[in-house]
Amino acid sequence: MSAQETGFTLLHDPLNNRGSAFTLAQRQQQGIEGLLPQAVDSLETQVARIHLQLDTLDSDLQKYLLLSDLQSRNQTLFFAVIMSDPATFMPLVYTPTVGEACQKFDHFYRAPRGVYLPITAKGRLKELLSHWPQKDIRFIVVTDGERILGLGDLGVNGMGIPVGKLSLYTAVAGVPPELTLPITLDVGTNNQQYLDDPLYLGLRQHRVRGAEYDAFIEEFVQAVQALYPKSCLQWEDFANINAVPILERYKDKICTYNDDIQGTAAVALAGIYGSLRISGQKLTEQRFLFMGAGSAGTGIAELISEAMVLEGLSIEEARARCYLFDVNGLLESTRTDLADFQKPFTHQHAPCKSFVDAIESIKPTAIIGVSTVPKLFNQQVIEAMSRINERPIIFPYSNPTSRSECTAEEAYRWSNGKAIFASGSPFPPVDFNGQKFVPGQGNNVYIFPAMGMAVLATESTRVTQAMFIVAAKAVAEQVTQASLDSGLIYPPQSQILDASLRTAAKIAAYIFDQGLARVAKPADIDAHIRGMAYKPMYA
Ligand code: NAD
Repeated sequence: MSAQETGFTLLHDPLNNRGSAFTLAQRQQQGIEGLLPQAVDSLETQVARIHLQLDTLDSDLQKYLLLSDLQSRNQTLFFAVIMSDPATFMPLVYTPTVGEACQKFDHFYRAPRGVYLPITAKGRLKELLSHWPQKDIRFIVVTDGERILGLGDLGVNGMGIPVGKLSLYTAVAGVPPELTLPITLDVGTNNQQYLDDPLYLGLRQHRVRGAEYDAFIEEFVQAVQALYPKSCLQWEDFANINAVPILERYKDKICTYNDDIQGTAAVALAGIYGSLRISGQKLTEQRFLFMGAGSAGTGIAELISEAMVLEGLSIEEARARCYLFDVNGLLESTRTDLADFQKPFTHQHAPCKSFVDAIESIKPTAIIGVSTVPKLFNQQVIEAMSRINERPIIFPYSNPTSRSECTAEEAYRWSNGKAIFASGSPFPPVDFNGQKFVPGQGNNVYIFPAMGMAVLATESTRVTQAMFIVAAKAVAEQVTQASLDSGLIYPPQSQILDASLRTAAKIAAYIFDQGLARVAKPADIDAHIRGMAYKPMYA
């Protein structure tokens, strides 16, 4: 390859490209001279240019696309931009914007990123995976696109989720981007709109189910283990009929977790711990009523129950404090339509189809919305909660914003300012009765990047439930009294990198104590993690 070809290739290699920041000496050395305008920019100038370009765009989707193109061109600059203002950029590279980006992924498709594994390639998954250029992969986020956020089956259009999520592992907790790999398993889609759309990019067939699907997953796990033995496999946005059994099958065999189930559970638990700092109550005094009994709802209920066990309850006593309500009403013992994973939360109670009636009967201290259905926490619901509780905990967690069970403004107004509120998608601050309330976002981003960094730093062999409880406590402990006074129960997103590194250090310490690490314990875990964390700068 000639010097010119090497330089040209370098300009198109997102991991090593510096664009206008290549120095004159580097340009001469690499054969780039003449391929760039003459000025040599600093990274700061390049970041300022991207900010300026973003300011000219009207819609968040356009900004998402600009950032996505940048990521394909120059990863260092991409991460420098995101990390320059995480609170602003996280909603652009992940929820809520990523929801719309996924829905239109095939229409706006530009550059490929990550690996696509179609079920038609069964028997050859290892070969396809081996085409990925990086050989030391530590973190994989994989989806089959069946339940993307609250938007349903988006088929291969769901690839925006693993891509966006892994960007956050890097931007929020410093997991080096070259160690990450986004993967989409294409087993078809049942979304007729996509099947009929000539621009759809995935397999044009209905979803494969049953034994064939399970064998495909097994082959995939084996291939990952063979090629990337130090990797952690994170399952993302699978429909709960698959998500729960897959996690059950692999959680004690390999280093793996499901963020929809366990990450969601941990961030909700962190929110509960934060809320209890406001109300001054104990976890074991709470009663929870969930709107939605899918993977998120049952995952949160289980982790809360396990956390209650650490505070002295038996697991049965703890689960008895968690009630779930789904599309067919309250989960109670006469129901015959329940899946195995819902049964631990099925209690003796009369059949009940009205959520307000369930509130009046169960008298929950907290309601958590994970139904994917907007507006279910209506005025009657919030008023009932406010009548029963001095400080009702109201968490509408369904994403994206259009699916939220209520808005922050509705929760504060209908509860007369009493609600302790957090939501899945962000809401702006609310002025009510002369007071300014700052709603927290129960965003899994407080948990999964930190978990990733802790697993990377320790080379942990497993990801356990107890690690998520440690993470939840670490997040809640970091909320300042000033934040709690404004109603904010999570650390501010503007300081998320620091918060994540602290959380990662707490999880890592636990991993070392439990003997799950594959590396020696460093003298100073915090310094060790900060030293490993990716920094967006040209080497
Ligand atoms: P899921 O499909 O597994 O479960 C949805 C549940 O809601 C089911 O039990 C269903 O019966 C129930 N439901 C549907 N319509 C209902 C209705 N009208 N009334 C009552 N219940 C109804 O989905 P999931 O994985 O559990 O996710 C649920 C939601 O939680 C999604 O919107 C997702 O984006 C959100 N979520 C948020 C976070 C977060 O913010 N941290 C994390 C994970 C998931």
